Amino acid sequence: MSRLIVVSNRVPIPDKTGTAPAGGLAVALQSALEARGGLWLGWSGQSCAEDRIGPLQMLRDGNIDYALTDLTERDVEEYYQGFANRVLWPICHYRLDLAEYGRREMAGYFRVNRFFASRLLPLIGENDLFWIHDYHLIPLAAELRRQGVKNRIGFFLHIPWPAPDVFLAMPVHEEILSSLTAYDVLGFQTEHDRENFAACLARQGLGNRLDKAHFALGSRTFTARPYPIGIETNEFVTLAQRAAGTTLHKRMLDSLDGKGLIIGVDRLDYSKGITQRIDAFETFLKRNPDSQRKVALLQITPKSRSEVPEYEAMQRAVAEQAGRVNGALGTVDWVPIRYINRSLRRPALAGLYRMAKLALVTPLRDGMNLVAKEFVAAQNEADPGVLLLSRFAGAAHELKDAVLVNPYDVEGTADAIARSLTMPLEERRDRWKSMMNALRANDVFTWCDTFLGDLSRYEQVE
Ligand code: UDP
Repeated sequence: MSRLIVVSNRVPIPDKTGTAPAGGLAVALQSALEARGGLWLGWSGQSCAEDRIGPLQMLRDGNIDYALTDLTERDVEEYYQGFANRVLWPICHYRLDLAEYGRREMAGYFRVNRFFASRLLPLIGENDLFWIHDYHLIPLAAELRRQGVKNRIGFFLHIPWPAPDVFLAMPVHEEILSSLTAYDVLGFQTEHDRENFAACLARQGLGNRLDKAHFALGSRTFTARPYPIGIETNEFVTLAQRAAGTTLHKRMLDSLDGKGLIIGVDRLDYSKGITQRIDAFETFLKRNPDSQRKVALLQITPKSRSEVPEYEAMQRAVAEQAGRVNGALGTVDWVPIRYINRSLRRPALAGLYRMAKLALVTPLRDGMNLVAKEFVAAQNEADPGVLLLSRFAGAAHELKDAVLVNPYDVEGTADAIARSLTMPLEERRDRWKSMMNALRANDVFTWCDTFLGDLSRYEQVE
């Protein structure tokens, strides 16, 4: 079996104290790296002055080498905060209005990808298999090819690929699109994303589509397929079952005092539809006065990317909105929305998911949305809660038995909340069973094996 090299912007270094359990993606990739022997390279998260960039920081854990590089302050500003998070992220989430394109940031993005390639080159063996992750590193394969690397290189995009009219509005779309053709295997979250990508190629007249999954450009061929990412399904079931005995669980139950828990868990990000969701919850409460004092929405929203101005503005907007709803509808002994900016650990989240009657997962656009899957896996089979899910989340393509909503339709979402809270047990069970089957059939380990299987077998089409 070939050695595996994973490259991603950040690297989840194993936590020996066990206080910060790794997410599903990290666990799956680590187990693939452990089995094959491998290397995981990425940014250390540290920035320094230009003349202070040192050698790679190397760490070994079992069969895995971790290689971390610092970046300069300018790199972080241009590549990470600039082009990746203020151009690619908004555009891939259909927010052209929020894209702040600048040539300096764009040049920084390509420069850092070249730098990553130069750090990788001395570490590469002839048969190594590369798996590059996400929108930060789109041009990496093209940079490696330029340096003569012939190895198989795969790429997985964790975020959506937008419709051609949105993508092609980005000033450097040609370079971004053509650099993707340097990969052998391209993975997208859904069929829809893959088709958007194929439509972009067609619109640009870039290459030929040989069949559904194969494309040819010049002397090279590559494949593009959907590989919907999963979670550690069994692990989540166990975490949720175990949570029942914990103090947090008891405190939460006490504080609810018989009220039904509705839960929302999202990074503070404009793609997550948090303000529309709060509007929908407020509309639901106003239209169903009997439900007031009988439910509470727990919105867990860790802050993210606070250095990007759009995120800072959003922090203020959501806090104000939650405060306004609580002020208008709350009573001396009932707070409709419990809004917290803290991040919770997965075992605690699993317990809260299980306690909730309803999860509101209403992104305006999301590559997959793992919270939706985790919520389903955490339910009690005998009395499962309901998943209310945006049809614009990648997860909606697999979890067809969720209550699907259009998050832009505030009144429609409010009605769906009402319907979900009164859904008969039998219907809840049927929906849950069908969703759980999907989660069991495609967990994160299957996802990882499927992608790596395709990549390791990939042959250029003659
Ligand atoms: N998460 C967490 N603690 C929190 C909030 C979220 O561990 O307080 C985890 C959550 O369990 C999930 C991930 O963060 O695994 C979020 O993934 P998702 O795909 O839903 O959204 P993303 O943040 O990647 O856009």
